[in-house]
Amino acid sequence: MADVKKVLVLPGDGIGPEVMTQVRRIMAWLEDAGKVKFEVTEGLLGGAAIDATGGPMPEETLTAAKASDAVLLGAVGGPKWDDLPFDIKPERGLLGIRKELGLFANLRPAVVFDALAEASTLKLDIVKGLDIMIVRELTGGIYFGQPRGIETLPDGTRKGLNSLVYTTPEITRIGKVAMDLAMKRGKRVCSVDKANVLECTVLWREEMIKLQQEQYPEIDLTHMYVDNASMQLVRNPKQFDVMVTTNMFGDILSDCAAMLTGSLGMLPSASLGDADAQGKRYALYEPVHGSAPDIAGQNLANPLATILSFTMMLRYSFDMMAEADLIEQAIQNVLNAGIRTGDIMQEGATKVGTVEMGDAVLKEMDALAKG
Ligand code: NAD
Repeated sequence: MADVKKVLVLPGDGIGPEVMTQVRRIMAWLEDAGKVKFEVTEGLLGGAAIDATGGPMPEETLTAAKASDAVLLGAVGGPKWDDLPFDIKPERGLLGIRKELGLFANLRPAVVFDALAEASTLKLDIVKGLDIMIVRELTGGIYFGQPRGIETLPDGTRKGLNSLVYTTPEITRIGKVAMDLAMKRGKRVCSVDKANVLECTVLWREEMIKLQQEQYPEIDLTHMYVDNASMQLVRNPKQFDVMVTTNMFGDILSDCAAMLTGSLGMLPSASLGDADAQGKRYALYEPVHGSAPDIAGQNLANPLATILSFTMMLRYSFDMMAEADLIEQAIQNVLNAGIRTGDIMQEGATKVGTVEMGDAVLKEMDALAKG
């Protein structure tokens, strides 16, 4: 009897449902192959939830998320809901679920598939074979620190204020996520800070060193100031394995790293919460791209970012490494065969739609499984 994994699927808006359909086909393939049993609940988030319930994050969705082993999200938002007040916009549903599940670690891999290396704006030899992981702290730092605000001073001028705050438990838990990941990869972690200027990141650096010395003797831990890290990411990105950094630095560096790969339609992400005593942690997997309303409903969307988000789920929530490897190899083969959706189209390649890209991946999975 295969293991039962509870997954909450939130297709969301725009291209979300289309790309999610392709993931559901891959889930069904794994089940048919006897690898796993998924207990899937489908829920509402974002605009779809607003239309059905009046709010972007129904209580039912939150309850289902908490009862699941992992959540897979398509994308939320679209012009239909753009004029709604800020606190009931579709994107609030996404921020709300991240907050309610305490998802403090954002994992953004930047992987360049050989067949797409030429799509990068950087030279081929700089990005070919790139495989790095950026771990961004997501619930603390300057985006949340108190005090904050804008105030008028006695002389009539105004002052804007935000506070960069991290406590030792916040630093240690994100450090652990990064070092655990690195243990399954190249065992190298680069912690990015601004310890030459900001006391808060002096503490960050000290706690990372302590954590490595006390719990991760096998990890090769290095440190880099964020200004240098941004230069190194475009100069020689392959020097990195896992990078770990604060909320704001991670926000900026992960977008920079994303661009090394050349395509939004290929980028997955994961957000993880704290592990409980049994080692279970809340986890949300989603593509980096949005709901792409300009191409929604036309069989034009690239489903690979969402499929790759699902392989992250297999790796990080279910420890199903062989199955994740199989799907990623199938994607690699499909790309090597010149099959492309419009967003990654290259001269001489074969242009296909969302469904046909799903077909191609499944066909390769069949071929790989047969050996
Ligand atoms: P977007 O990522 O949706 O689209 C940017 C461009 O990339 C568009 O031209 C789109 O067609 C293209 N694109 C994106 N994903 C693609 C895919 N899988 N295949 C092929 N092409 C793809 O960003 P946007 O246009 O700035 O935002 C559209 C909506 O999505 C907005 O309402 C925004 O708030 C929302 N959004 C949601 C998320 C999320 O759910 N996590 C993230 C970003 C934006």
